[in-house]
Amino acid sequence: MAATESKIEIKKQRVIIIGGGWAGLAAAVELSRHSEFKVTLYEAARQLGGRARRVPFNEQGVDNGQHLLIGAYKDTLTLIESLGVNLEEKFLRQPLDLTIRSPLKRQTIKLKASRLPAPMHLLMALLSCRGFSLIERIRALQFGTRLFMHGFKFKGDISVAELMYRYRQPKSLVEKFWGPLCIAIMNTPVAQASASVFLRVLHDCFRNHQQDSDLLFAKDNLGKLLPDPATDFIEKNNNTIKLGQRITHLEIDKGKLYGMMIDDQMVDADHIILATSPSACHRLISDQPDLKQLEQQLASYHYQPICTIYLQYPPEVSTGSPMIGILGGYAQWLFDRSIYGQDGLMAVVISSEGPHMELDNEQLIEQISKELSLLYPDWPAPETSMVIREKRATFHCSPDINENRPDNTTPVEGLWLAGDYTNTGYPATLEGAVRSGLECAHQLIDKLKPEQTTG
Ligand SMILES: Cc1cc2nc3c(=O)[nH]c(=O)nc-3n(C[C@H](O)[C@H](O)[C@H](O)COP(=O)(O)OP(=O)(O)OC[C@H]3O[C@@H](n4cnc5c(N)ncnc54)[C@H](O)[C@@H]3O)c2cc1C
Repeated sequence: MAATESKIEIKKQRVIIIGGGWAGLAAAVELSRHSEFKVTLYEAARQLGGRARRVPFNEQGVDNGQHLLIGAYKDTLTLIESLGVNLEEKFLRQPLDLTIRSPLKRQTIKLKASRLPAPMHLLMALLSCRGFSLIERIRALQFGTRLFMHGFKFKGDISVAELMYRYRQPKSLVEKFWGPLCIAIMNTPVAQASASVFLRVLHDCFRNHQQDSDLLFAKDNLGKLLPDPATDFIEKNNNTIKLGQRITHLEIDKGKLYGMMIDDQMVDADHIILATSPSACHRLISDQPDLKQLEQQLASYHYQPICTIYLQYPPEVSTGSPMIGILGGYAQWLFDRSIYGQDGLMAVVISSEGPHMELDNEQLIEQISKELSLLYPDWPAPETSMVIREKRATFHCSPDINENRPDNTTPVEGLWLAGDYTNTGYPATLEGAVRSGLECAHQLIDKLKPEQTTG
């Protein structure tokens, strides 16, 4: 009897995940919940997290770029919570309350979601927004109402600028409100950004529940939110993470995947999930004749930078708010990191391309310090500073981008894709990456379940 039982052991499927960003980690965690998979995650860097990772600065460290989460990031928050992270401890969660200041025009916009249920919380916020003229309030309200009536959808795709024109939004309102919001959501300027993707995010934030538009500020570095608890979970389930391992070649023959090359060594696999950025994925698949169409899709991706300037002031310096928007200079958003226990540390975010890219780090720090001193004339000069430029922070989210985004499956048997750039409908965000990783894992699980072999 004992001998028969040992003979019907289920043969584990060997799954390799290439890339330990949030998409790769989400896929690895999900597959680790199923004992029929033997998962090995390979990450080229010495740490996990990819474009959302910890970076040393002063004693405590910071993130490679200030990240903001929203209540609508359901899959990300559920995943983090499922790993035993207490969301209330790790996040400062606030109802939508945006302050945007323009020091040169001495103007402040304040959009605060009311306590009413969705969608009234947004419509009332637009109607009562401080810093909007009467006509701007009326037009914004009409825009919001029509979006709800049309289910945040229309046929085809256009630019956000065109969307604003069709919905009669005054130029002044686009400049001071919709434009900064569009860049914050998609890291792409209104004239070049996809209206479909913009509306998709607005839909998820404002359509269903008031809490979906909450802003979530992590109180700890990004490593503590997903990479660290995911590592514990993956390893506890007898799966493996290998850091500092760059994959250089995929072994594919006649439409079937056999494994991959690392340091001139072949590693066999039943399945590989390529969970890299689109540009790294492009490099890995470009010599594969079976993946010509994917190669063309990936070749058409363009990228946008995000630049984060960390400025350490004396600990008593504070803005009194975790985040404010800034208009009229290079700085776009200012985060006060005292909620991380980093008193006096400010993170200034500049999304997308712009004249700041022409400045060297020293010039940029000087420029940003000057802009902050217009807003806060009492602040002394910063004591230390650091600039992080992520040149390919996100893909350029242009109209019709969704038509060109690849699915999780590929024409090669055993090869899968995960990453923020795949066909999630979302812009390049943590939520897009996590959704893609989870979806990829679910498709793999669904495909293999009936095929389990006995040996
Ligand atoms: C500065 C900045 C600010 C941002 N702000 C926000 C924000 O506020 N909110 C938000 O939701 N999103 C934000 N994002 C976007 C978000 O970080 C990304 O969308 C998300 O992290 C992408 O995850 P990913 O797993 O798809 O890809 P990646 O994070 O790029 O992960 C891919 C991984 O694959 C590894 N890899 C590549 N090639 C190989 C190889 N050959 N072998 C082995 N490993 C390899 C890489 O090292 C990397 O770790 C920001 C991004 C940046 C850069």
